[in-house]
Amino acid sequence: MTAQPRLADALGFDPAKLPGDLWIGGAWRPGEGRIEVFDPSTGAAITTVADASTADALEAVAAAHAALPGWAATPPRRRSEILRRCFELMIERRDMLARLISLENGKALPDATGEVSYAAEFFRWFSEEAVRLGGELSVAPSGANRILVQHQPIGVAVLVTPWNFPAAMATRKIAPALAAGCTCVLKPATETPLTAYVLARLCAEAGVPDGVLNVITTARAGETVGAMLHDPRVRKLSFTGSTAVGRRLLKEAADQVLSCSMELGGNAPFVVFDDADLEAALDGAMIAKMRNGGEACTAANRFIVQEGIAPAFAEELAGRMAALPLGAGYDPATRIGPMINKAAIETISGLVDDAVGRGARLLAGGRALDRAGFYFPPTVLDRVPAEAAIGREEIFGPVAAIRTFATEEEAVAMANDTEYGLIAYVFTSDLARGLRVSERIEAGMVGLNRGLVSDPAAPFGGVKQSGLGREGGHHGILEFCETKYIAASW
Ligand code: NAD
Repeated sequence: MTAQPRLADALGFDPAKLPGDLWIGGAWRPGEGRIEVFDPSTGAAITTVADASTADALEAVAAAHAALPGWAATPPRRRSEILRRCFELMIERRDMLARLISLENGKALPDATGEVSYAAEFFRWFSEEAVRLGGELSVAPSGANRILVQHQPIGVAVLVTPWNFPAAMATRKIAPALAAGCTCVLKPATETPLTAYVLARLCAEAGVPDGVLNVITTARAGETVGAMLHDPRVRKLSFTGSTAVGRRLLKEAADQVLSCSMELGGNAPFVVFDDADLEAALDGAMIAKMRNGGEACTAANRFIVQEGIAPAFAEELAGRMAALPLGAGYDPATRIGPMINKAAIETISGLVDDAVGRGARLLAGGRALDRAGFYFPPTVLDRVPAEAAIGREEIFGPVAAIRTFATEEEAVAMANDTEYGLIAYVFTSDLARGLRVSERIEAGMVGLNRGLVSDPAAPFGGVKQSGLGREGGHHGILEFCETKYIAASW
């Protein structure tokens, strides 16, 4: 298969010539069949990647297991230098990687370019963390011995990632795993496999030894991931994806009592108080809602706006959202690209229709576009009734659903009325109120007068059914470590 010449010209590379075989033990292997990869901007197939069988997945585990002793014994400084090189290569190739992400995911180029920078930062941050993994030494209260605590690499890690950030969700796991001295098998989403394979090639070029990072794509995710989680050589699962799949994997991981880090779905409240700076709240809303076309776990899902500021906020948000140029992700003029696939369009349409049917007022957008590719225009729904499904389910699209509140108490209750707890946004010019409300909202992260929170140097993760564990910050490397306590007398 060769891509249409015009597409290859626009991208500057031919997607059919990118690596698409399984990356196991430092070699490319064909797998058992092929999986088609689609361009969401047109709906057309662009290339294929290998389909791993269970046997292929277990070979990847074997390769990671064989590479483990050597990598765990590699001096942290050396691991750090290799990770630093991964960062540098990603930055050098930022434009190409961004076009590739736009191609297979559909997101607009500015979003894709931002993702590459963010993804690369995980390599830089964890190259710095690799040489800062301290321990503890203390005297036992009884005085009988010393207590030594050290952090050892946990072992072979299975990394499972979603399609919405094909580069960043992979590097957020690969970088801390490698920094800690673990080896891994990455299974990216089948919708966006090309970025993962290009990253595998880049890591090898940066000096990551054979078998330390393995990448497999498969159309049989349940079967192959299940087999890996039941292989005694595996000691860690790090998963990013939906809460429904996360729950299933937690049950599977229980059989071998695996350590699990789970970054799951969100249903972020975006709370705006009357005293907020309207422009700042709108700027924040545009980032929190429209980054990645709304296909982000951190996307503002429920706009909870105080009665006084609500009419101006709703009207101006609708104006700003409707003005975003919509088109193919890799077209430089585009600010909002297509959704990932037809199923996503159907889910979003269903949520919008349900809200409108229950009396929500449509201020912009509202209906999928009738053209090739998977386009849903930026949509604003005002006065959304409490019983609308859009308040409970993750929208994962460019739809802002607005409800109003009267008191702070009511705002906190509305924000917490969800089984999710990944992130929340609070806008107010009263800092005491902002901190008070931030503390009371049940979420792992809060953006206070900010629409963007993600930072490789900060702990990212959720509470309630949004997940377990943290990625990034100092916490991220500890997720890939076991704590060893040695009681010593001397
Ligand atoms: P998904 O759960 O459908 O898929 C995630 C990954 O799991 C993919 O690689 C998929 O192939 C794999 N998978 C699917 N079924 C499986 C099974 N039975 N066994 C093993 N693996 C399986 O999620 P998605 O649609 O790719 O991504 C969107 C979801 O991810 C949203 O809910 C979003 O909120 C969440 N997400 C969370 C974070 C976070 O950090 N909390 C970040 C990004 C995305």
